[in-house]
Amino acid sequence: MKLCRFDVDAVGLVIGDRLYDVSAPAREAIAPDPDHAMGDPLVRALPRIASMVGASLAGYRACPVQGVRLRSPVRFPTKIIAAPVNYRAHIAEMQASDAQFGHTLTDIEKAGLFLKATSSLVGPGEGIAVRFPERRTDYELELVAIIGRQGSDIPVAAALDYVAAYSLGLDITLRGPEDRSFRKSIDSYTVLGPWLVTADEVAQPQDLGLTLRVNGELRQDARTSDMVFDIARLVHFASRFYTLYPGDLLYTGTPQGVGPIRPGDLLRAECAPIGAMDVSVRAHRPNGG
Ligand code: MN
Repeated sequence: MKLCRFDVDAVGLVIGDRLYDVSAPAREAIAPDPDHAMGDPLVRALPRIASMVGASLAGYRACPVQGVRLRSPVRFPTKIIAAPVNYRAHIAEMQASDAQFGHTLTDIEKAGLFLKATSSLVGPGEGIAVRFPERRTDYELELVAIIGRQGSDIPVAAALDYVAAYSLGLDITLRGPEDRSFRKSIDSYTVLGPWLVTADEVAQPQDLGLTLRVNGELRQDARTSDMVFDIARLVHFASRFYTLYPGDLLYTGTPQGVGPIRPGDLLRAECAPIGAMDVSVRAHRPNGG
């Protein structure tokens, strides 16, 4: 199942290039929650939504998926966890330009994971607003694992049972000396989309091709088999420090080919079992988004 959020607060089921508006069953599946459970209500309701929309799509309004404004498929993650230095060829590229990147640790076991502010999260239809155009701002394409259920100290062998879905992410990064959580948490600097794809439709998450094009030019082209810590190990690693909740996002690290973006650029991220997303880059306007 491919599920998106679009326009103001609608929920869509994506089949091919068509989008079916399943907002009504999605709202019904997200039952009232007087206990305010931690995590994202839509992700928590995924199994119920799947069974409710499974039978027939005849009753739902449909439109071309191109015609809607795609939002982040997850709206309320309790945290956005991200892996640094997790692709072998990217580590080599960072070491070659260490001063520019400002990092020193290249061993993920020692470097650990980091967090990005949840308020930085946007969907592809919202785009990226570059905040400091006089400084270097880079794209980082990443596969994102979306956590489906609560867990702590999750064993590696069970870790993929905690992944409900996958999505594509952009970990947009202002380069410079400040703390990473500061530079990577600017509004709109965490993109998620184009939709979530439930894990049952991603048979080999550790053998996916990822590409990123900037203005049509291929910049990142990698396979998830090149990860240092695979997804299961990342989930295990994160859960040794944090309790994971439904909707928590795990950005699994960027491969080689990282480079700068500027207002006016158009990014296109693609991954075969997930799909493609177009994300435009503009200049930030104070008080104007
Ligand atoms: Mn990253």
